[in-house]
Amino acid sequence: MFGFKCQECGKGTVNPTTVHDYQTRFDGQHFVVPEAVIGVCESCGARHFSAEERYRWRQLYAERHEAHVKTTVSMPASVHLKLQNLRRTRKCSQSAIVTELIRNAS
Ligand SMILES: [Zn+2]
Repeated sequence: MFGFKCQECGKGTVNPTTVHDYQTRFDGQHFVVPEAVIGVCESCGARHFSAEERYRWRQLYAERHEAHVKTTVSMPASVHLKLQNLRRTRKCSQSAIVTELIRNAS
């Protein structure tokens, strides 16, 4: 998703760079992305954001937000792990995955 020519300086190449604890905002709320992949120009240092990565952050944000809201929902740790792995590989909603897990378990 990176590796393209920088639009800011037109000289450097934008390389993917992992930033730990990247601070951003969603819905006006402060949010820290544990591991954000940002495209940084090797020449001028301009930052480029991929729509896909922004989407992933939003998913993370929604996940955290959901966790805060649904404090009464209990889920076995094994299921929760599975859920996280599934969510990493697929782009679908939590409810869709939960439905699938329940179907598989029964
Ligand atoms: Zn540049």
